[in-house]
Amino acid sequence: MGRADLHMHTTASDGALSPEDMMLAIDGLNIRYKEHIGHNYLDVVGVSDHNTVEGGYRAKNFALKENFGFEVVVCEEITSLDGHILAVDIKSNIPKLMSSKDTIEHIHSQGGLAIAAHPYTIANIAGKTGFKGVKGLIKTQNFDAVETINSNPTEFFNNIYAHIVNSGGFKDYFNNAIDHIIGGRTSGSFHNYWPHLANHGRLAEVGNSDSHFPGSLEKVWTEFPGITFQEYKAALLAKKTIPKGHIWGIFQLGHYLKDRKIMKEYYSREPKYEARISVRA
Ligand SMILES: [Zn+2]
Ligand SMILES: [Zn+2]
Repeated sequence: MGRADLHMHTTASDGALSPEDMMLAIDGLNIRYKEHIGHNYLDVVGVSDHNTVEGGYRAKNFALKENFGFEVVVCEEITSLDGHILAVDIKSNIPKLMSSKDTIEHIHSQGGLAIAAHPYTIANIAGKTGFKGVKGLIKTQNFDAVETINSNPTEFFNNIYAHIVNSGGFKDYFNNAIDHIIGGRTSGSFHNYWPHLANHGRLAEVGNSDSHFPGSLEKVWTEFPGITFQEYKAALLAKKTIPKGHIWGIFQLGHYLKDRKIMKEYYSREPKYEARISVRA
């Protein structure tokens, strides 16, 4: 099984690290994972800055130049009038503030995947940040997938509710759960904090970090058969992707405050391929 995270931010929008430093952080984690548990932390990485593909292209070019052992996909998190939509594997900027329908059409016309990001986020209660989700539109619009695990602590509710809605509501959800448990088909379908029932929902489900700083990496990812982006895409279109992980907590908050400064200084001193990272030391 491969691992993908297609939602993270860099200094091309509101992230703490440059696209290059973010890729170095992931490469550092891959090196450690390979050493200790024999596989990559991530095989497929998507940089999805707000309303721009710039971060994605910079990350991709850097990863190719450095010959990292993971694949980078150009993404964008588009602020549509209805909420945030993740565009995966697109070529050029898609404008913000269009309807979700038009946004999805633009994404598909570029051959990309349209994913509803944190559809039921509660982070925009005051309505001032522009940070919102498409909510019930996951039941009707032509999305390719829905993010049912996002690592931000504000998304605890989203992660449960988005999954239930996508499963057809409470009744269907619990019927499926009982069917699964009584049928003994639990292995591989339960992630570690919420009983995730793969392949029952209307849309494919994915897990993404939505990381804005390296301390929030590692908590959430999507598992899929294969290791390449093409295999991820095939799995997603066949509803075979499995979101994994859980929100980050108070310990990562400390990292957030430190990371921004320390990581930047560190990477400006250490050119490459050193034991370059200790985001969770
Ligand atoms: Zn968002
Ligand atoms: Zn985001």
